[in-house]
Amino acid sequence: MGNKKIQALMIVLVLAMGCGYIHQERILLTKSKAPPETTPVYQMGDWVIARGSVHNHTTFSDGCRSPEDLIQQARNEGIAVLGITDHREGRTCVGKHHEICANMGGFDSKKVGTEKYFEQINRLSSETESPLVLTGFEIGPYMWNEGYFPYLTLKATHWHFTVYGIDTPELYAKMPAPWGILMKPQPDPGIKPYADFVNYVIGQGGLVFQAHPESTEYQRYYDLVYLLAAAPTHLTDNLLNLTGVAVIPSGLNQVGQPAGEWDRAQAQYLAGIREKPLWATGDSDFECPDLPYNLRTGTTLFYLKSLSKAEVFKAMRAGKMVALMGNDFQDIFVSNFSVSDQPGAEKIMLGEEVKLNGPVDIRFSLNKEIPVQEAKLIRNGKVIATSKTSKLEFRDEDAFKKGAPVFYRVELVGEDGRSRLFTNPIFVDWTR
Ligand SMILES: [Zn+2]
Repeated sequence: MGNKKIQALMIVLVLAMGCGYIHQERILLTKSKAPPETTPVYQMGDWVIARGSVHNHTTFSDGCRSPEDLIQQARNEGIAVLGITDHREGRTCVGKHHEICANMGGFDSKKVGTEKYFEQINRLSSETESPLVLTGFEIGPYMWNEGYFPYLTLKATHWHFTVYGIDTPELYAKMPAPWGILMKPQPDPGIKPYADFVNYVIGQGGLVFQAHPESTEYQRYYDLVYLLAAAPTHLTDNLLNLTGVAVIPSGLNQVGQPAGEWDRAQAQYLAGIREKPLWATGDSDFECPDLPYNLRTGTTLFYLKSLSKAEVFKAMRAGKMVALMGNDFQDIFVSNFSVSDQPGAEKIMLGEEVKLNGPVDIRFSLNKEIPVQEAKLIRNGKVIATSKTSKLEFRDEDAFKKGAPVFYRVELVGEDGRSRLFTNPIFVDWTR
């Protein structure tokens, strides 16, 4: 083996140790007969409101639970919709022809293989009545190297997306998400490889969400390999076909803030730049029970007409979702979020587009009123009203007078200062 090859091999070994996709030991679930810790499904009029956890890992990648145990854990915690999204990154290769590869333990590896992954998760999904199991995966669709040999500076190592609806090996294989890192430095590719990837998923009828959009991980190994994630917040409003973004928990400081990237995407929608709004979810990124996490680290409440996977996907496409985290909001749901120019609207209008012709009354409440540090009503990225309880009622004369289309959303900050709740927006236009 030549010097260069030895160096490349070393780099691959370092990568394999450092990237965090190393196969974890399975941790068995202790059997429990206790009732679920939270209510998995609420019924309100015509609505079925299901508690979901949409970004989770199993022993197929860096999780410690087998898929079967994860499903049981979901039952124990009171999760009605469980997304399984293992990492694809099974090997990382270095060299022009991917000469040297390291097995990093994801599902797209020689050891597992995409056939086996999709077959097994799809089978569990069809056999399991409760929770509803969604087959998905998590992927970093493009990484590049900016370092000169023998150094490697890997960019975008945590620019991750969770994908649903690409659930056969055939659809997966055609996805534009190249493997491998070149030894010679590459230029910053800009948004293109990510847009190509998102457009493919959407073109095939799938759904794609940006995961942990504020990840700032920086790692350095033996002075040889640098992994730079940098905060990929710019992806949120630059990927025009993205279905959604996990504002909870890793989008709270910037992306989910008033006038942050999430609101900017809705402004793009109002301006006709984006075909669809961008929806918010809460995502757990659950791996192992020894960490201070569970399947409710980030929760997504789905508003459905019946409890089925098809209805969950419909809610994901239509923004019929509420994202939440923290102790204060573990056993509540949004029972009213509506806009109207007439008295008496009591409805869930998450994600809807409503035409009005007068000043608009916005109403928001939970199924029970609780004290909060702050409830914020946000219009087009600006806070226009606040409250110290979880109930908000506000008449907006201003928006009607101005006559331009608007979107409203509500954010709650719990009494503990840590708990958060985000509604998806309602869009209002005027008939005149
Ligand atoms: Zn990730």
